[in-house]
Amino acid sequence: MPNKPLLLLDDSELADVVGPPAFRVRQVRRWLYEAAETDPREMTDLPASVRERLAGIGVGSLRTVDTRIGDGGQTVKWLHDASGEVVETVLMRYPDRATVCVSSQAGCAMGCPFCATGQGGFGRQLEAGEIVEQVLVAARHLGERVGNVVFMGMGEPLANYAAVVDAIRRLHDHCGIGARRITVSTIGIPDRIRSLSRDVPPLTLAWSLHAPDDALRDELVPPNRRWPIREVVAALGDWRAAGGRRITIEYTLVAGVNDAPGLAPEVAAIARTLEAHVNCIAMNPTGNPRYVPSPPETVRDFVDALREAGANATLRRNRGADIDAACGQLARSRPAK
Ligand code: SF4
Repeated sequence: MPNKPLLLLDDSELADVVGPPAFRVRQVRRWLYEAAETDPREMTDLPASVRERLAGIGVGSLRTVDTRIGDGGQTVKWLHDASGEVVETVLMRYPDRATVCVSSQAGCAMGCPFCATGQGGFGRQLEAGEIVEQVLVAARHLGERVGNVVFMGMGEPLANYAAVVDAIRRLHDHCGIGARRITVSTIGIPDRIRSLSRDVPPLTLAWSLHAPDDALRDELVPPNRRWPIREVVAALGDWRAAGGRRITIEYTLVAGVNDAPGLAPEVAAIARTLEAHVNCIAMNPTGNPRYVPSPPETVRDFVDALREAGANATLRRNRGADIDAACGQLARSRPAK
């Protein structure tokens, strides 16, 4: 019998631990994923003996070490201890929905120089249960189910492929989150993009482009040297051809680095090829003096230049900067004592 909390068990391990009859597993899953219950003793439709046994095993493995509230209560950032690694999760509330931004790895090995996570290096892969538990913590805070999940926190999701696919299936099948409300944001790993279209329901894919040519992208997204733009574009074309939803291109504007309006037509050309929407966002400060945010007027001019070049482009609102919870600000730091 595996010595792991319930959320860390895969389907067959959970069935072994819960025991017959078969419907018992479905009951436990409802408690774990729909009710976000943390105490098996409260799983009231289970026999007392099963409740006691599951209570001895425990539900989750994340230990929340800090909770920060920003944007007047509309943004919440959690720091969780995941067996010695720090993992961050951000909840963003909007008038019509709540979105949880989850981490798929502790840290990140991709090394993007404008990103605090990339500068902090790689810790370890997260397990599927650790990813899903981040959503369950947010659901408990909200007092209701989470509507949207974005894999835009710490880590490159497609570099932790098996666990991310397992987490997506659990979010979809057990938590009841629709596939189009799940977004995976990737720097673009071609073979994983192709396999993702087969392995999970049709979710939303966001590609972090950040530069329209390989020379500049080699600097801003170092894995571009291994997976250059044309190879990612080909894989994304296959994703679309396989029935994948419309792709979003993420473009983070860094002052004096990738924000010249002259680059916009090249970005627009890539977007048109993929029939993709371009989401622009000013980078968030991370302390590296070479990489600082573009001024708001530069960001607006860039968005205008994209539209003039025929791209469908929007400016993404920045959330969570006051609590270091914005895009690119998630670092593996523990709270100050
Ligand atoms: S931007 Fe994304 S892929 Fe790049 S270092 Fe940061 S977390 Fe990793």
